[in-house]
Amino acid sequence: MDTALSIAIQKSGRLSEKSLEMIRSCGIDVNADSRVLKASASGFPLDFLFVRDDDIPQYVADGVADIGIVGRNEYDESGFDLEIVRDLKFASCRLSIAVPHDFEYKGLKSLEGKRIATSYPRILTRILKENGVNAEPVVVSGSVEITVEVGIADAIADLVSTGTTLKMNGLEEAECIYRSSAIMIARHDMKAEKKALLERLLERLDAVMLARHKKYILFNLPKDKLSQAASVIGGMKSPTVTPLMDEGWVSVQSAVDEGRFWAVFEELRRLGAEGILVMNIEKMTE
Ligand code: ATP
Ligand code: ZN
Repeated sequence: MDTALSIAIQKSGRLSEKSLEMIRSCGIDVNADSRVLKASASGFPLDFLFVRDDDIPQYVADGVADIGIVGRNEYDESGFDLEIVRDLKFASCRLSIAVPHDFEYKGLKSLEGKRIATSYPRILTRILKENGVNAEPVVVSGSVEITVEVGIADAIADLVSTGTTLKMNGLEEAECIYRSSAIMIARHDMKAEKKALLERLLERLDAVMLARHKKYILFNLPKDKLSQAASVIGGMKSPTVTPLMDEGWVSVQSAVDEGRFWAVFEELRRLGAEGILVMNIEKMTE
């Protein structure tokens, strides 16, 4: 049988949909509707393993799967030594210290001697140690935000993305101590054949990720404004310029960073650009 790469992804939770979507946008199709444990893909030699996110680092470390998509927090907390091959930049969240309203928080030092409830004792302990703070982690596997109210902790260290859950439980976010997003992990000692497959997959992934933050614009411009327009657009290489029937005008096309898009748009309008057309880019290489 031909070699296939195997990937462990979260069966159901915050990472599931995005993980699948990213892989699908690489032209790899998988039928994950039935939520079976295992599935094969079409369009690429890739086998899927749908599991709980907590188990993903271990499965990759043990060779049950070659690669995995998991939150950086879960990976760091697992303690396994794997290769982080990509930061996938979704499912962003922060591990924050949160305290009750009457707690006068003035930095990590305020936690000296306190009980801090968390599901991430390894990460928390490392950060406390780096800051020379002695506190007692209280390990809970869920509902960290109720521990202060029930009296088993003085403060908590928990994952936050918006902060609403904290507020609902009478807590305030005091300080972010760690940031996480989804990462792709792999074993260090992968066989050459599998490594080659991983490289192919990463090349596709990079094209998808690069395109995600770009827009493609196309517009007509008075020819004498071309060099000004080119410096406004910036970007990877000089823009593509096509002559128009009207000799005073050219048609220009280029990729633009999404974050700068409106600034570029306004500047181009000021230079006299007309018929500006903006498109999403599906895939792209440098
Ligand atoms: P499983 O059943 O697979 O163990 P889980 O309940 O442990 O799932 P989820 O809640 O689905 O995990 O979260 C998965 C990951 O999503 C987290 O480990 C974290 O990296 C990320 N994440 C993003 N935002 C948040 C948030 N507000 N709270 C918790 N995790 C978040
Ligand atoms: Zn989990």
